[in-house]
Amino acid sequence: MKGKVTLVGAGPGDPGLLTRKGLEALQAAQVVVYDRLVSPAILALMPEGAEKINVGKQASRHPVPQDQINQILLEEGLKGKNVVRLKGGDPFLFGRGGEELELLAQHGVPFEEVPGITSAIAAPAYGGIPVTHRDCCSSLHIITGHQRAGKELDIDFEALVRTKGTLVFLMGVSALEAICTGLLEGGMAPDTPAAVVERGTTPAQRRISATLSTLPRRAAEEQVESPAVIVVGSVCALAEQFDWFDHLPLKGQTIVVTRPRERAGTLSGRLRGLGAEVWEYPCIETAPITPCPAMEQALARLDAYEWLVFTSPAGVDTLWYWLEEQGKDVRVLGKIKLGAIGPGTARALRQHGLKADYIPPVYDAAHLGEGLPAAGKVLALRAEEGSPALTEELAKRNIPCDDVACYQTLYQNAQSHELRAGMVSGQITLVTFTSASTVKGFVASVGEDVDFSAITGICIGKQTAAEAEKYGIPVKIAKAATMDAMVDLLLEGV
Ligand code: SAH
Repeated sequence: MKGKVTLVGAGPGDPGLLTRKGLEALQAAQVVVYDRLVSPAILALMPEGAEKINVGKQASRHPVPQDQINQILLEEGLKGKNVVRLKGGDPFLFGRGGEELELLAQHGVPFEEVPGITSAIAAPAYGGIPVTHRDCCSSLHIITGHQRAGKELDIDFEALVRTKGTLVFLMGVSALEAICTGLLEGGMAPDTPAAVVERGTTPAQRRISATLSTLPRRAAEEQVESPAVIVVGSVCALAEQFDWFDHLPLKGQTIVVTRPRERAGTLSGRLRGLGAEVWEYPCIETAPITPCPAMEQALARLDAYEWLVFTSPAGVDTLWYWLEEQGKDVRVLGKIKLGAIGPGTARALRQHGLKADYIPPVYDAAHLGEGLPAAGKVLALRAEEGSPALTEELAKRNIPCDDVACYQTLYQNAQSHELRAGMVSGQITLVTFTSASTVKGFVASVGEDVDFSAITGICIGKQTAAEAEKYGIPVKIAKAATMDAMVDLLLEGV
């Protein structure tokens, strides 16, 4: 059986610019072949079980030669694998996508191509430069500035100048001087607006604006490096007015998100949307405790309870784990009333078609216990090391409660070099903590010997903050225990 090879354009860097079709192909891949221009945030979307083959250039090592890449794609396709070849930007724009398809076509291996958003248009766009504008030009030209070793640039500069269109050069950083000189000699005015956009659409994006005659000097002063696009034309002058990306409130901030992987998405996505560089480090994981006789007993006599309360979305997940395990479904819950500690937990219930009957005004265990309008017995499905506040409050009110520890927190045992290096170098300044256990997990990942006083712990609540303070982490506490309030807190600080 033959497999299929899908060339997927990953876009220029911002993971939000991967197309839906590209994401679907990636998630269905058994083998992913990728190179260096694909951003880490997109590589993180590769399915866990997929084989990952890096054919890109690594610091001092050479990239895998093109004919070998073609061969890998062919071999994996012939093995019957579902292969995704991830390429930066658009695969067919200076991406050698065509060459990769030739061999597949010759051998009858089925293939598809999913276009991507090209850096030629997106990097200028994130720098506030629309590549065309009715008042400025009527064409756009995308040119490779790649110079073969020892050869002159093979570009007809005079012809380009005559078009009066916007010119975008890819792979042009090392030939920047030669490109600008060529255009000047081709008759372009020295004061024509020009710009370089480096690492476009990523949190590290820089735009350097100048004129055709001053751009090489400005770029050298700023030590511009590849990947960068060079844009020449009057549209570049619009950048001052249209630059939006650099003005995002969290631009320039590196924020670590320590939530468990399955819950990190929303917070990370919002922070990226606000311009932050987000490092996702799920320092903890939650898992059902098995076997769990207390849980099985409770489920067998659910009708003895008036209320079922959850203090986290993980508790909701654990209930579903057991229902599946026992071949049951939501109908066993019957008329039982549902309490949720806050909106995140209520949302987890909603995903199973259930509405929380009670959410306390302040999203913590004490307020849940204090305000729960219960008369009968309460069943609480909680973490192994849950805070005693809930049961204490219920006890004060003489409300009987079975507190079932049904899930556990698993800590990331291995230290993360990257995280540690980010801490030691001072690159990391903000770390979000959504529970006391994420603090413990983070400290374990970095190593306790590191000085934590230079970061700020953005904490969901008081208990989490108290845990962070034990390690000398300066803290700020969200006004409410929600992701919205965490984001607000981050925005206040900048
Ligand atoms: N197929 C890619 C281009 C590959 S050629 C695309 O459509 O974008 C590689 C060149 O693309 C780099 O030398 C650089 O000029 C440009 N490039 C790729 N990613 C970039 C980015 N994030 N910012 C600026 N330029 C980028």
